[in-house]
Amino acid sequence: MRESNHQSRVVNALTIDVEDYFQVSALAPQVPRASWHNRQCRVERNIDLILGMLSDANSVATFFALGWIAERYPQMMRHIVAQGHEIASHGYAHHRVSELGRDAFLADIRLAKAVLEDVTSSEVKGYRAPSFSIGSDNQWAFDCIAEADYRYSSSIYPVRHDHYGVPDAPRFAYASRTGLLEIPITTTRILRRNLPAGGGGYFRLMPYAISRWFIRRVNQVDRESAVFYFHPWELDPEQPRVPGLDAKTRFRHYVNLKHTEQRLRRLLADFCWDRVDRVFLTGSKQWS
Ligand SMILES: [Zn+2]
Repeated sequence: MRESNHQSRVVNALTIDVEDYFQVSALAPQVPRASWHNRQCRVERNIDLILGMLSDANSVATFFALGWIAERYPQMMRHIVAQGHEIASHGYAHHRVSELGRDAFLADIRLAKAVLEDVTSSEVKGYRAPSFSIGSDNQWAFDCIAEADYRYSSSIYPVRHDHYGVPDAPRFAYASRTGLLEIPITTTRILRRNLPAGGGGYFRLMPYAISRWFIRRVNQVDRESAVFYFHPWELDPEQPRVPGLDAKTRFRHYVNLKHTEQRLRRLLADFCWDRVDRVFLTGSKQWS
């Protein structure tokens, strides 16, 4: 099944956070939730593009979707499942865990799981916190994720960043305090620092060769599977511009959008990719 030009034999986990451009946390001050239903949506077009790319590369992935999106685009969600991909949860309305108390958080992730399972008729095993918003001061979130019957979380990016990140968290899959499996976004360790190797704005900012080198190091030096993520809006240079952003936010959101598709196509060709549940829940790491 795997082509011979794959440069590493480790199977990595590819993930997509299914939200639209106007639901990004960094844009929230300019885009109140109450205005979401009036916005021009781009997610269907972008998911179509992603499904085509994955099909071309003979790869499958895990889609962490918002309940809000699944309610509006049930056909799109069922189409994703029909292509063999895993559906997981990104919460209902993209609230950061840090803005919710324990009860509201539990209600949000239960609602998202119920909506996603109802729409797709398949079990939702995974959860990813919006903006990687589980940190040292809200570890209780892991209790809630287990209580809501999820089997794994992928909510930590062990890097130093002004909006998220737990730089001293374990770099590879570990049992959180409740025993729930946490599968962090991938970093590579160079000069005693964790550097982001698992996607996000960094993937658009850095030359592709650097991203490839980082993931190769994880596969060949650490001998671990990488976990990589991106968003549908990152492949969409034509998305409507949100006015009123400060210079840093504007740069981070719009930089190199026009290069993302080609870079992702190279990433799909250069490494082996599969769903999170197959890579991490099968008892031992998979090797092709
Ligand atoms: Zn998100």
